[in-house]
Amino acid sequence: MNVEIVFVMVGTTHTGNLGAAARAMKTMGFMKLRLVDTCSHLSDEALARSSGANDVLKEAQKFSSLSEAIADCRTVIGTSARARQLAVPLKSCRDIADELAELSASDAAQNHRVAMVFGQERSGLSNESLDLCTRLLRIPCNPEFSSLNLGSAVQVVAYELSQAIESVPQGAPVPMPGKWKGGSSEQAVELDDDEKPATSASMEHFFEHLDRVMIDTGFLNPENPRLLRRKIRRYFESNRPSTNELSLFRGILSATENPKSGQ
Ligand code: SAH
Repeated sequence: MNVEIVFVMVGTTHTGNLGAAARAMKTMGFMKLRLVDTCSHLSDEALARSSGANDVLKEAQKFSSLSEAIADCRTVIGTSARARQLAVPLKSCRDIADELAELSASDAAQNHRVAMVFGQERSGLSNESLDLCTRLLRIPCNPEFSSLNLGSAVQVVAYELSQAIESVPQGAPVPMPGKWKGGSSEQAVELDDDEKPATSASMEHFFEHLDRVMIDTGFLNPENPRLLRRKIRRYFESNRPSTNELSLFRGILSATENPKSGQ
């Protein structure tokens, strides 16, 4: 069971930041955006900066005050770059995420909506707004330079929440082309044979080729190879190249053996 998380932007003055916030939310699996007294969220700039999170912007709900925007929320987390003198406890982003994860896993998660509230670019959230919050969240950062760009702050918070409450698939990365990633995954991408890790036989051919070039160029003294061969082998085996990548290395070795004349 998961709590529902809504992101509330208060007093945002740059439309681009609304687009960036929508993008940050959607990448982490959050779609519900609420706006209080902000600039236009459907401007060209906002839509462009959302980079495809137009749906988050288009479905955003507008409210005339923060109290209306959070009326149906049971937990309200205010975010602030500065520690403020307020009654509500100030917690780090990760601590809040852990608290929400606990809540999310419990029976209390049902019908429990949580608001994450973000302030205006220059002044942040007013004390009156922070008074409406049940918790205060601060992203730990350089004490002498602690104010993140609004979109960046939304990204960090959304990321931490997504890891804690698993709003995006966990531990199942999409394989990078040419690299095998362990674990089963619904999203697993079928790789071409050439993009799969090279076979042991091709690795051995590669090591022989490399050995030849190292000896011919004088880099390796076959009378005294010390640990060089093993080090090289360990390096390539700990991150075994794909067949494609291996042919690239083989190409470099061949070119080293037969440099173009005149060069
Ligand atoms: N001087 C303002 C900075 C505003 S930055 C302040 O003290 O809050 C705009 C918004 O980005 C903030 O209102 C907050 O929502 C978010 N933000 C920026 N840096 C943050 C940080 N280090 N921790 C938490 N939220 C932050």
